[in-house]
Amino acid sequence: MSKFEWKYAAAPEASNHAKIDARYGLFINGKFVNPLSKKYYSTHNPATGQKLSEIAEAGEKDVNSAVAAARQAYEKVWKKMPAKERAKYIFRIARVIQERSRELAVIESMNGGKPIRESRDFDVPTAANHFFYYAGWADKLDYAFPNKKPKSLGVAAQIIPWNFPLLMAAWKIAPALATGNTVVLKPAETTPLTALKLAEIIRDCDLPPGVVNIITGFGNTGAAMVNHPDVNKIAFTGSTDVGKIIQKSIAGTDKKLTLELGGKAANIIFDDAPINQAVEGVINGIFFNQGHVCCAGSRLFVQENIAEEVIQKLKARMQTLIVGDPLDKNTDIGAINSREQLDKINYYLKVGKEEGLEIYQPNCKLPANGFYCKPTLFIGAAQSNRVVQEEIFGPVLTIQTFRTIEEVIEKANNIPYGLSAGVWTDKGSKIFNLTTKLRAGVVWANTYNKFDPSSPFGGYKESGFGREGGLHGLMPYLNL
Ligand code: ADP
Repeated sequence: MSKFEWKYAAAPEASNHAKIDARYGLFINGKFVNPLSKKYYSTHNPATGQKLSEIAEAGEKDVNSAVAAARQAYEKVWKKMPAKERAKYIFRIARVIQERSRELAVIESMNGGKPIRESRDFDVPTAANHFFYYAGWADKLDYAFPNKKPKSLGVAAQIIPWNFPLLMAAWKIAPALATGNTVVLKPAETTPLTALKLAEIIRDCDLPPGVVNIITGFGNTGAAMVNHPDVNKIAFTGSTDVGKIIQKSIAGTDKKLTLELGGKAANIIFDDAPINQAVEGVINGIFFNQGHVCCAGSRLFVQENIAEEVIQKLKARMQTLIVGDPLDKNTDIGAINSREQLDKINYYLKVGKEEGLEIYQPNCKLPANGFYCKPTLFIGAAQSNRVVQEEIFGPVLTIQTFRTIEEVIEKANNIPYGLSAGVWTDKGSKIFNLTTKLRAGVVWANTYNKFDPSSPFGGYKESGFGREGGLHGLMPYLNL
């Protein structure tokens, strides 16, 4: 250790206040019920391997009963309720998320592996903000779409992934309720706990029974939701492969669909950029949250004349990143979400080496138990490398260089995905030029991974279609 390095003392967040039941049923029609399937599976803490709870595995009959509850609540209660009354419920959910934010953040980190700093400062507050924001829209839909008569659709089936469990639930549920729809939501199999906590919150807020139903299970539970004939709208966030299956299976029906799928974002640094800020932004864009972000800036493009400096600064900053206990407030990179995901990342590390790329990892120590991965650079990558073309969903950054704007636009767009991108430059004109030419749903300029409920998010090409957030996020839940 050089004299300029120091170690932080551990600063673990307490977890004894977080109440996790030994077993959870399905939240259907306003209460937790035992699954008709009679099946349960265990959910774990990926940082320690510790079992946290037993979770119901919803079968087809359970899906039927959740959809029936949602239909009944839609026809009898929610559709008829004055919009300003609906808004009060949504507002109340937002307030209770705030009140219980500490517990939600701790459980999010325990079940998902993300650093407590992330879940406490980003996931939970942003989830509350989404409910606040859409509570505001509920009685203003006629003004959002002038000269149109917006009408709700009915029952929405919503399926979400494991990387932002509570936040994705908020992204899905808040606009659906604001527009007068009822919901059946399924969290990912590895991260059900905060969605189940949200079910408790919804129950405690006295939302009319059946307006929101939260059921747990694996891919076949999701498929049963998608194929249910009484579902009017499907909102899915997850892998491009499953997105394609869903699109095929609803072809020929009049179900509405939005898909938010994979990504492989370009983060572009020009030689006139403030380099230190750009390096910090790149680190934030790919390594914090273990790269478990569909919009992660996983492909770095650096203008050739500053490449050496940027790479040297990236390496130095990576050396200071703290990988370890997600509940420690100092941790930058927590646990990989599951064994399966860690295997996938390790597979791509092997692919990158076999493709002949220079690899860099800091010499930090990984905890002995749990699923962890060192932040990794692949230097000297080319457009044709698999590690450049395929989504890894881990803390792995490829670095390519470029000389001209035209070249970097071509390279950044030459990929099956188009969810997000980042640009670092001192010149506003370059930013505007690039934002119109990059085929990505979101382009950040001189920042990265910034989210706000009022701004829409969504992709091009194999990253999906439809927008979530903002006024645009209302549209997929309405007949206009
Ligand atoms: P990831 O690679 O992010 O885990 P998946 O697409 O496998 O993404 O999972 C996202 C969500 O989709 C999870 O809730 C999962 O249970 C669900 N899911 C998986 N397979 C299917 C399917 N065939 N139909 C509907 N939902 C599915």
